[in-house]
Amino acid sequence: MRILLSITTLAFFFSISLVTAQNATFTLPKLNYAYNELEPNIDAQTMEIHHSKHHQAYVTNLNKALSGTKAATLTLEDVVLTAGRRSDAVRNNAGGHYNHSLFWEILSPKAQKAPTGALLMAIEKQFVSLDSLKKLMNQAASTRFGSGWAWLIVTPDKKLQVCSSPNQDNPIMDVSKERGIPIVGIDVWEHAYYLKYQNKRGDYLTAIWNVLDWGTVGQKYEAALSSPLLLRIEKDTWTALKDFHTVMAQTFHPAEEGNLKPLRERSAEMLAKATLLQTAPIPASFNKAEIKKAIGDLVKGATDLDKTVRKKGKDDVLLKKITALHDTFHIIQGLCEE
Ligand code: MN
Repeated sequence: MRILLSITTLAFFFSISLVTAQNATFTLPKLNYAYNELEPNIDAQTMEIHHSKHHQAYVTNLNKALSGTKAATLTLEDVVLTAGRRSDAVRNNAGGHYNHSLFWEILSPKAQKAPTGALLMAIEKQFVSLDSLKKLMNQAASTRFGSGWAWLIVTPDKKLQVCSSPNQDNPIMDVSKERGIPIVGIDVWEHAYYLKYQNKRGDYLTAIWNVLDWGTVGQKYEAALSSPLLLRIEKDTWTALKDFHTVMAQTFHPAEEGNLKPLRERSAEMLAKATLLQTAPIPASFNKAEIKKAIGDLVKGATDLDKTVRKKGKDDVLLKKITALHDTFHIIQGLCEE
């Protein structure tokens, strides 16, 4: 008992120091070029204010908004991916930090003017030519009302897609309609162009391509194709799995604490969600025999659980059955991460 206590105490202090050590303190990334080096396409004053004031403010406000919260230990990718579960301050500033970090990286005074290799092949296959892709991007950027971003993304099915998002949202976020990993982002907030181009967003959009480095974008394309983040986004778009998870969480956790009421009220709903999971299309990366078998087990377990509820089964019997069902669900979750 004494040994157990001291281990617990140690673990407690260890976890505190770990949390403190990992507390997110995001920092402003340095640019690989001087503020005046993107002239005349982007003027030095715009670059300086954009980087040292606007981007710095997103970083400062993100650190402030995360401080002391559970999300403070998450990586930037995790925060962005789960933006819908965060406060507006975290969502906006995490997006602002992520988006601008990408933006600075893909700009260069010595920009490679056209894509090569795998990226070039993908662009020609999907958009016919670089020019038609640029046209689509400019259209997305100029029709984005108010502030936002235009994107070229790699989707979970490993295709390229052009889209746009409002404010500081981006396609990694669970709140976005179009999902994927951005490899090009064009900032269409007025702060990105107003000093030089005033209201002429179109002129800024023409100039930006002169400093967009397709070499870096090509590297980002290849990295995105094999990124674990892409798999996480794909899993996140599996609505039937998410819906089942919600009912499972809302019935299993009270049951663990001795409250079987939510389970007794919602066992039929849980069975319906399990059945839907079995019949709805499975995202390509997860359409595997082991996962389908585990979903089959889930339907069997949910059927049995619902039957037991309807027969007014005892609490301990129900708890045992939902614990087993919860285990089966976690087998599916685990298989999705392999
Ligand atoms: Mn900006």
